[in-house]
Amino acid sequence: MSQKNNPTDTANLFLSVKEVQQRIINDIKAINGIEQVGIRQALGRILAQNVVATFDTPPCDNSAMDGYAFSSKELDSQAIKDGEQTAISLKVVGQSFAGHPYQGAIAKGEAIRIMTGAAVPSDVDTVVMQEHTETPEEGLVNITTLPKALANVRKKGDDLSTGHTFLSCGKKLSPTDLAFLATQGIPEVKVSRKIRVAFFSTGDELRSIGETLGEGDIYGSNRYSLYGLLKNLDVELIDMGVIPDDRQAIEAAFLSASEVTDAVITSGGVSVGEADYVKETLEKLGQINFWKIAMKPGKPLAFGTLGKSLFFGLPGNPVAVIATFYQFVQPALKRMKGQSIVLPLEIQVKTSELLKKRPGRTDFQRGILEQSESGEFTVRSAGMQASHVLTAMSQANCFIVLAAESGSVEAGKMVTVQPFEGLIA
Ligand code: AMP
Ligand code: MG
Repeated sequence: MSQKNNPTDTANLFLSVKEVQQRIINDIKAINGIEQVGIRQALGRILAQNVVATFDTPPCDNSAMDGYAFSSKELDSQAIKDGEQTAISLKVVGQSFAGHPYQGAIAKGEAIRIMTGAAVPSDVDTVVMQEHTETPEEGLVNITTLPKALANVRKKGDDLSTGHTFLSCGKKLSPTDLAFLATQGIPEVKVSRKIRVAFFSTGDELRSIGETLGEGDIYGSNRYSLYGLLKNLDVELIDMGVIPDDRQAIEAAFLSASEVTDAVITSGGVSVGEADYVKETLEKLGQINFWKIAMKPGKPLAFGTLGKSLFFGLPGNPVAVIATFYQFVQPALKRMKGQSIVLPLEIQVKTSELLKKRPGRTDFQRGILEQSESGEFTVRSAGMQASHVLTAMSQANCFIVLAAESGSVEAGKMVTVQPFEGLIA
C-alpha cells in the first residue's frame, strides 16, 4: 500500500517519546477561565492565584505541651549550683488554657499552669511538661527534670509569616492545602475552570455493551479506560460513543465535539497509511500531525487542533491507549488545567527478574513495584507484554520504562519506573 504522508509530518521518521512530549507541552497553554470557589470545592482543583499570608500563624507564641510556663532566667538563677543542675521551685500564680489566655504579670520565681495551644504570656518563654514536675502543695510546682531554655514553645509566625506566598498558582490543592487556607481564615480561592473533553471510539468491529457480538466483533473497551483516566484528571466528560464508519457522520461528530470542548480524544484509526475516514476528516478539518513514535506499545499518534479544540488521536489497542494517554494526553491536559507539574513521576529501582526487550523503541512494560521486608523496592514484569492484553495492565501498578537503545535487562540492574497515578487505588 502506498503511504500518504501528511505535509505537517516533518519526515516519515520515528520520533522519540521525549521529543513528542516536548512538542505537545510547548504547544499548549493553560486555558482561560477562572472560577472563585469555596475552599471545600477547591479540593483537587488547580489554583489560579498566589495566596499570601495576611497575618502570622501561629498568631501568638503558644505551648506545645501541657505543663508549666516560666522564664528561662529561672534556669540561670535557681538551677545551676556548682555546675550541677537541681530541681527548681516556682510559685504558681495562674493559668493559661487554649482560648483563655493568662492576663496578669509573672514575676521572678513564678510560673503559670499552661495547656497545649494556650498563649504563652510575654513574661515567660519556656514550658516544662507536666510529667517533669511535682506539686508538693497547692500553688507550688517543683521542676524535677529541667527543660532547655525556650523549650516547648511554638513561636508566633513559625508556620507562616505575614506577606509570605504560601500557595502558588498551578498547585493542585490537597487536603493539607484546604487546612492551610483555613488557618488564614480564607473562605474562597480562584481556581482554573474545569476543562471539557469529548471522546470517541472508531472501528467497524466495535460493539457497545448490551449489543450482540457478530463474528469478528469485539466490545469496545477504550471508552471505559478513557472515562476512568479522564475522571481521575477531574475533567468534564462527554462520551460520544462509537463513530460509525460514515464520512458525513464522522465530520458532523468531530465538528460538534470541537465546538463545545477544549479537547477531543479518539482511539483507533490513526495508523500511518491506514485508509480511514477518521484520518481523512481530520486532515480536512484540522491542523493535525500524524506521528510515528518510537515507543511500545503505542506507535501511532495524531495530535493537533480541531477548531478551537486540541485533538489527540490515540492508537486502538487497549494497552496502547492507556500508555499513550499517560505519556502525552495526561501531561497535555494537566498543562491546560494550569498545573505546574505535568510529566509522570519516575523513580529508579532494581528489577528482580530478566526483562526481555529488543533495541529500537522505548518500552513501557507493565510492571509490579513491590517492597521487600527489609524495605527495598524492586520491580518485576506484570505478565504477557502485548498491546491487546489487559491482564498484565490490570495487574500492574507501574510502567517500567526501558530506553529505546536498550536490549534485555538482567535481574539486579536498575531500571526507570513510573508508578501509576490514579490507575490503581
Ligand atoms: P486500529 O488502531 O484502529 O488499527 O486498532 C488497533 C487494534 O485495537 C485493533 O485490534 C482494534 O480492534 C482494537 N481496538 C480499536 N478500538 C478499540 C476499542 N475501542 N476497544 C477495544 N479494542 C479496540
Ligand atoms: Mg480501526
